[in-house]
Amino acid sequence: MSEPSQPITTPQAAFGLATPYRDVTCGELGAADAGREIRIAGWVHRRRDYGGLIFIDLRDRYGLTQIVINEAEAPEAAAVAGKVRSEFVLEIAGKVARRLPGTENAKLGTGEIEVQARSVTILNEAQTPPFYINEPDAPVEESVRLRYRYLDIRRQPMLERLLLRSELVKAVRDAHHRAGFVEVETPILMKSTPEGARDFIVPSRLQPGSVYALPQSPQQLKQLLMVAGLDRYFQIARCFRDEDLRGDRQPEFTQLDLEMSFVDEQRVMDFVEAMIIDVSRAVVPDRPIRQLPFPRIDYHEAMERFGSDKPDLRFGMELVDLVPALGEGSTGFRVFDETLAQDDASGVTRGRVKAIAAPSMADASRSQIDELVAFARRYGAKGLAHVAVAADGTGHSPIAKFLGDDRIAAIVKAAAAAPGDLILIVADSDQETVAQVLGHLRQELGLRLGLADPKVLAYCWVSHFPMYKWDSDGQRWDATHNPFSGVVPEDEKLLVTVSGDPYKPSRQDPAGKARAMQYDIVLNGWELGGGSVRIHKRELLERSFALQGYSLDKMRALFGGILEAFDYGAPPHGGIAMGIDRWAALFAYQTNIREVMAFPKTQSGTDLMLEAPAPPEPAQYSELGLRFVGTETPDGDRAVAGQEVGK
Ligand code: ASP
Repeated sequence: MSEPSQPITTPQAAFGLATPYRDVTCGELGAADAGREIRIAGWVHRRRDYGGLIFIDLRDRYGLTQIVINEAEAPEAAAVAGKVRSEFVLEIAGKVARRLPGTENAKLGTGEIEVQARSVTILNEAQTPPFYINEPDAPVEESVRLRYRYLDIRRQPMLERLLLRSELVKAVRDAHHRAGFVEVETPILMKSTPEGARDFIVPSRLQPGSVYALPQSPQQLKQLLMVAGLDRYFQIARCFRDEDLRGDRQPEFTQLDLEMSFVDEQRVMDFVEAMIIDVSRAVVPDRPIRQLPFPRIDYHEAMERFGSDKPDLRFGMELVDLVPALGEGSTGFRVFDETLAQDDASGVTRGRVKAIAAPSMADASRSQIDELVAFARRYGAKGLAHVAVAADGTGHSPIAKFLGDDRIAAIVKAAAAAPGDLILIVADSDQETVAQVLGHLRQELGLRLGLADPKVLAYCWVSHFPMYKWDSDGQRWDATHNPFSGVVPEDEKLLVTVSGDPYKPSRQDPAGKARAMQYDIVLNGWELGGGSVRIHKRELLERSFALQGYSLDKMRALFGGILEAFDYGAPPHGGIAMGIDRWAALFAYQTNIREVMAFPKTQSGTDLMLEAPAPPEPAQYSELGLRFVGTETPDGDRAVAGQEVGK
C-alpha cells in the first residue's frame, strides 16, 4: 500500500469501488483518463518480458488493464515486476497513457490505454494454478474445477455466469417488491415437508433422539403465512432433497418460492408470467420470447401433441395420430393390428399408433435408423417403424409390403410430411408409452437437427394435471405434484371413493379422474417450476390426504400444524416455486445447473473442495447420542468406520 487512505466523507464514495488499495478497477480506464496518476490492484493475468520492458495484464472482476514497466524509467518497479508470476496479487501506482497508435486493443474495454507503472507492490504471491486462468476455453476436468472452484470462478465463463445469476435474483426481487410481495425467510431446521424425495435430517442435541428435517420446500410455512394474513410472500429459498443426482439435480438448490392469497389459477399465472417477462427482459434483453402471452396448454393436450408435459415449443414436429389414416379393418401389419385390437377393461382402445415427421432425415442410413430404434427402445418402445418421403412426395418403407401403397400415402398425408422427411412411427397398447417414446424422440431430434433456436425463450404453461396417480403397491392415490394442491372446482365431487370411505381408496375411484389446480411453467423443454391453488378447507384437505393413503394419526403427526391452522380462517391461496438454478442455467445456455452454482456438489453429493460430508468429530457422537451402524455403501465399500461412542 503506497499512501494511507483518506476518510470517506460521502455515501457515494463509500459505495464506490475505490479502496485503500486502488483508485480504479481493472475495467474502467479509457482514453479520457490519459494523464491521470492512479493506483490499481488485481491479479497477474499474463506477463510478457521484453527485457527492459515488461507488460502485465492486470485482472480483476471488472476487466483487464495493461501495465507497462519500463526499466529505464522505474528500475525498482522493474525489479519487482521481474519476479512476479501468473496470479500474483499486485498493487500498481502509475500514470494512465494512451497506447501508441496501432497497439490499441479494440476487444478490450480498456484497450486504448495502458498504465505506466511507477511502483509495483506484491500484495501476495501465488503458486502455479492447476489450470490456466487466462485460457477460459481450455478444457479442464470437472473434478479439478470443483476442487479449485475459487480458481475456476476467476475464469471468465464461471464469473460471467455468477454475475448473470446475481442479476437474475436481483430482477426477481425487484419484480416482487414492485408487486407488493413481502420477503420472508423460513427456517432451515424444520420438520419434514414432503415433495417426493428423502429428507436430510439433523440430530437435535437439546432433544436427544429427535431430528430436524431440512425443508424439501417451504410449502407448509408459506401456506401458514397466508393464514397469517401476509397476502403476498416470496423467498429465494434454499431447498434440500436427498435423491439420486442427475445432470439437473443437486441435493441443495434454490427456488423462487411464492404464495398469494385470494387468488385463482389465472391470477397466479398472470402475475408469474408478467414477472417472468420482466425478469427475462432485464437479464437477457437480447433473447426473444417466442410467444406472448405464454401458450397455456392442458396436460392432456401437451401429451397428445408433444408427448411431454414439458414441451419444447421452439419447434413443431408435433405428434400425429395415424389411426384414422390406417382405415377400418386389418391394416395388413400385425404389429398395428394387435396394438389397436387391445381394449382396456372398459372396452376403450388404449393402444395408439402415432408418428412424428423428422425433416431432412429421409436418407438416414441403416445405422442411423438402428440408433433411433435403440433410442426408442430405451424409452419403452417395442419397435420403431419408419417411412421415408422421397422428393416426389411418395413414401418408402420396409412395412409398405404389409400396409400397401395407399396406406403409406395416407400416412404421409396424415403426418403432413414434406419431401425429405422421415416419418417415425410408434405403436403400443399403452398410450403413455407412445407419448413417452415420441416425446423423447421429438426433443432429441429437434436439438440434433438444429430446429430449436438456442437464443429463443419459449415459455409455456401446462396445467390441469391429473390430481392423483394410482399406486398399486401402496393401494393409494399419490398426488402427482403437490399433496396440498386443490382440485379444479367442477371436479371436487370426484374426490370420493367407490367404497364411500376416503380411507379405503381403490383403483376404480372417481378420484382418478380429478384434475388438479396445478400449473407448471416450462422453458425450452425444461420444467422451470410448478405450483397450484391449494385446498384451504380442512375437511377437503383431510379427504385428499386420506385418498393419498395417510391415516388420521399419520396426518396429525406430519401435517397437524397446518391442519389446525386451517381451523382459524385460511384464505383461498395459491403459489408456485421456480428453480433459480435451472432458470440461470437456461439463461446462460447451460444444460447443467452446476455451471451456475458457485459451489455445487458432485454426482455423489460431495464437496470436493471442503471435503464434505465428513465423519462427525468424536465429541459430536456423544453430544448428539449418535452411533453409526451398517455403513456399507451400495457398492460394498466401507464408507465410515463404525464408531460406538455416546453410551
Ligand atoms: N412446493 C412446491 C415445490 O417445491 C411448489 C409449489 O407448489 O408452490 O415444487
